[in-house]
Amino acid sequence: ISSVELTEHYLKRIEQFDGTLNSYISVTPELALQQARAADARIAAGDAGPLTGIPLAHKDLFCTRGVRTSCGSKMLDNFIAPYESSVTQRFIDAGAVMLGKTNMDEFAMGSSNESSFYGAVRNPWNTEHVPGGSSGGSAAAVAARLCAAATGTDTGGSIRQPAGFTALTGLKPTYGRVSRWGMIAYASSLDQGGPMARSAEDCALMLQAMAGFDAKDSTSVEQPVPDYSASLNDSLKGLRIGLPREYFGAGLDSATAEAIQAAVQQFQALGAEVREISLPNAELAIPAYYVIAPAEASSNLSRFDGVRFGHRCDNPADLTDLYKRSRAEGFGAEVKRRIMVGAYALSAGYYDAYYLQAQKIRRLIKNDFIAAYEQVDVILCPTAPTPAFRIGEKIDDPVSLYLTDIYTITANLAGVPGIALPAGFANGLPIGMQLLGPYFSEARLLNIAHQYQ
Ligand code: GLN
Repeated sequence: ISSVELTEHYLKRIEQFDGTLNSYISVTPELALQQARAADARIAAGDAGPLTGIPLAHKDLFCTRGVRTSCGSKMLDNFIAPYESSVTQRFIDAGAVMLGKTNMDEFAMGSSNESSFYGAVRNPWNTEHVPGGSSGGSAAAVAARLCAAATGTDTGGSIRQPAGFTALTGLKPTYGRVSRWGMIAYASSLDQGGPMARSAEDCALMLQAMAGFDAKDSTSVEQPVPDYSASLNDSLKGLRIGLPREYFGAGLDSATAEAIQAAVQQFQALGAEVREISLPNAELAIPAYYVIAPAEASSNLSRFDGVRFGHRCDNPADLTDLYKRSRAEGFGAEVKRRIMVGAYALSAGYYDAYYLQAQKIRRLIKNDFIAAYEQVDVILCPTAPTPAFRIGEKIDDPVSLYLTDIYTITANLAGVPGIALPAGFANGLPIGMQLLGPYFSEARLLNIAHQYQ
């Protein structure tokens, strides 16, 4: 099959199904077919890699030259980036095809993809339910086969939780493994791009293209990139898996707990040893994260002032009016809430009480992981307390939505990598589980996920 044929196949499926799912913000058929023709020429010339000609979709916060990058916000509805993000450039270099840009929570703030200016995304497994967030568009698009694989970003679970809600495999790499250059910032010390795909094998190919040092990102780590596909078939004999006691207590849905128990048995059959461990500060993660992430967001989002790019109000009376009305009109309710929380936490007199305390908790959580990895090789736990909830169910209760991030955000606070993979189904909805590993253990995580699958 040629890349043009494959691209046409996906474009047709998008036309057929995305009216219901709403997983794409922009579809770019002309560009896609042009890239597909170029890929076919590369394949014919014997100059092809594993992703050459493969139709992908990118979360709409990776800047793409000449194609709108909205970040799910009215603020950037008219924004066409004059440059290409490092991640999407690497896919262009690999000869991949971009079908379009996927829907997401506004500025990646959310866990259900309901805060997008472009409307909620529906879960392909049950369209009354959310696909998770903030990379909900990427998750729904891959799960419904509206692209072969997609990029996502994970600041506090936004790759792993939607992967879990849609039966995909999704990887959040170690902080610094994938360049953040050209990725619209939410919380810079937590943000990390990664792949969302149908299998660990596909994630390995995607991560191979994405990972590596980038001088344009000051937090990019200069460390060699292993061959992620080479170790997929390594044995799990003697692998030490830890189950954190704190992740299996109150609030965990029973079907999810049972699915993980079944997975434990399968891992044991594959030769792994499973034991209980403790991450004693886990319960402090949500309050710490929901101070640190909004604090960084309030600073990052100050650039959207109506002056240089993005939404600008009509007929401003003066500069202050321009700032005020452009931001009031351009940002949605959840983004405004985060900016206010963050600005408050950073303000004089409150900094020590909130931001500084949250940073101390962050260090404790990181130390918990370092101690745990002295006893075990990886940690196994759920991605979310329940399967996907109904659209609208948590819309008026932001705190209950924040609580759904309980199992994912510790990895972001510590900077460690995590892979989400399918663990089963309950009432027709997918159940996700995740494996967390030490810094730069992506190859091992992909290997474990592949052996399980
Ligand atoms: N749900 C979390 C938040 O709203 C995480 C989002 C993300 O990882 N981008 O902040």
